[in-house]
Amino acid sequence: MKMTATSALALGFAILAAAAAAQERQTFTVGTATAARGQKAAGAIEVPAAADPALSIPVVVAHGAKPGPVLAIVAGAHGTEYASIVAVERLIATIDAAQLSGTVILVPLVNIPSFEKMVPHLNPVDGKNMNRFYPGRMDGTQTERASFLITKQVVEPCDHLIDMHGGDLDEDLRPYSYWTRTGREPLDRISREMALAFGLDHIIITTDRPTDPAASRYLENTATTRGKPSLTVEAGRAGTVEPGDVNALVNGSLSVMRYLKMLPGAPATVESPVWIASLANVTNEATGMFVPLVTRGAYAQQGMKVGYVTDYLGKVLFEARAPESGVILYIRAVPSAAKGDTLASIGVVQK
Ligand SMILES: [Zn+2]
Repeated sequence: MKMTATSALALGFAILAAAAAAQERQTFTVGTATAARGQKAAGAIEVPAAADPALSIPVVVAHGAKPGPVLAIVAGAHGTEYASIVAVERLIATIDAAQLSGTVILVPLVNIPSFEKMVPHLNPVDGKNMNRFYPGRMDGTQTERASFLITKQVVEPCDHLIDMHGGDLDEDLRPYSYWTRTGREPLDRISREMALAFGLDHIIITTDRPTDPAASRYLENTATTRGKPSLTVEAGRAGTVEPGDVNALVNGSLSVMRYLKMLPGAPATVESPVWIASLANVTNEATGMFVPLVTRGAYAQQGMKVGYVTDYLGKVLFEARAPESGVILYIRAVPSAAKGDTLASIGVVQK
């Protein structure tokens, strides 16, 4: 839908009005955590039991001594994307509410069952992907109830949101972020500037996300469809917690906070990122053992063999070839490869 100048202006005022309302709060509450001005408070978003068990999602609120916007930073929808979870733990320890303008809501680990059972991609309680069921519902399974309460208690009170991910146990990933282009201003300009301020040098432009706030599916898209400029970022890979990945996520978040004037100083903005116009995924056509032939970050020419799948005695069953030319954003990190699995994700560079 194309916006008129009037509706764009109304959206601009709505963003400013939301920020102004937050500035007046003496205390800020998320779940059971209530922070006074200049303080950090810990608590939980309590998801009640229904047909399946309850879930207690830990949350910290840092309510700045000075007024400013509300930023939500969420990780661990996929509980084995460890670098992103460790990064939010680090931010919880690092952020000093006495030095902060505005409020930060920090949720380091949404999918606790995935973390505890070491199950990639899904919540083992209900078998659902915890970044696909937003805005959620209270009469659903654990993932849907958690999504509903995160929408109400994290997304709705915030002005901006950063959703952190990374390569899961089976993904050898090079860092990148997503910028969602909606056609709405100033939403797109601010989210683009947030992506540049975050500092990852490969940025995927997404234009195909749902536009209906009642069917937003993704966490970042739940914020975006509610008029809040937001961002999804990815760093880390294959079960590792490497300092470079954690630092990129921590420093990127602090840089966005400088861009939003929540911290003093200038953001460390990436000047010339590689803009990714689309994704070309390679899907496995035969269950067996995967052998990669390229590493994350490599450039693959269209038709190039990026890996192959054999049976358990070494006979080649499937040759994985790049459907288009582009950057290997991630490649399968483990030999286990079922039919239908993604073997590689290739970012097609914007011309
Ligand atoms: Zn993820």
